[in-house]
Amino acid sequence: MVPHNQSNTIDFDAAKLQRLGYARRNQQATKPTSLAQLRQQLGLQLQTSLEVDRILGLFFQEVQRLVALDALSYQLPACDMRLELGERASHSAGYRLSHEGEYLGELIFRRNQRFSEEELGQLESLLASLLFPLRNALLYRSALQSALRDPLTETGNRIAMNQALQREIDLARRNLQPLSVLMLDIDHFKAINDRFGHGTGDEVLKAIAASLKDSLRNIDMVFRYGGEEFLVLLSNTSREAAQMVGERLRLAVLGLQYLVEGQALELSISLGCATLLPGESTDSLQRRADNALYVSKREGRNRLSMAG
Ligand code: GH3
Ligand code: MG
Ligand code: MG
Repeated sequence: MVPHNQSNTIDFDAAKLQRLGYARRNQQATKPTSLAQLRQQLGLQLQTSLEVDRILGLFFQEVQRLVALDALSYQLPACDMRLELGERASHSAGYRLSHEGEYLGELIFRRNQRFSEEELGQLESLLASLLFPLRNALLYRSALQSALRDPLTETGNRIAMNQALQREIDLARRNLQPLSVLMLDIDHFKAINDRFGHGTGDEVLKAIAASLKDSLRNIDMVFRYGGEEFLVLLSNTSREAAQMVGERLRLAVLGLQYLVEGQALELSISLGCATLLPGESTDSLQRRADNALYVSKREGRNRLSMAG
């Protein structure tokens, strides 16, 4: 039998992290170091993650071994990124980061004491170690986002939908909370394409998706199910509450003022709503919502039907 402590497996991550001082993070964080050493160490450490939050958290922690800080904030509005670490303080030193003309966000160091010229020089030197890891993490983030997003409507795609459904259904079961879904389809959409062309059809699709997102609290839960069909996932939402949300969405689309060639289009959606039953599968839940949507279509459109 092979004894446990002679295993040949090398846990590379754990080994590397230990070497870099993660195991003793708190002691390490307060231990002073030289600029050159810290730059070298940051170069290695910041490569250990592709998550923006984690990279900036590490950076904030390690920089304090050389320059005392109270807070660090970072923002990149174009990517909807905003991060605040530490406590707000009266003095600040802000840097706009860019690499080869590409804007990578603004970073602000804060503390209650003024920064000396020497400290500012050190911070600037340390920022150089952050640039590439930060750029890589932003690229990774945007790749992940586009893999889960429908580019036309900026809603979640089918991959994101399946992941979210599975995750939220598991959570609902575990926490004994209700969960509902709305399946919706634009009424007579083909006629819009036929009359005004596919380009206008695309714009209308975008406008309707935007109106759905505007009417929902959690915009991450709208998914493009197919061509002009969407699924809205409502976690912790009972049948009655889901019915109200569905009605709100229907009215929002009905109230859209979309002008083409000076003429307002008559836009409406039909919806089907289903609430998760005990032990029910994802497929069955979707099927019931879809059947309810079909009832809405059959009964004249621009309405919401509840699954039995
Ligand atoms: P109903 O009220 O029964 O839903 O009628 P409908 O015309 O909306 O239904 P149908 O399923 O017959 O047509 C859907 C149309 O949606 C057909 C397809 O060309 C169009 N469509 C699907 N995806 C897109 C898209 O991305 N852009 C555009 N412009 N049209 C799309
Ligand atoms: Mg349709
Ligand atoms: Mg359809």
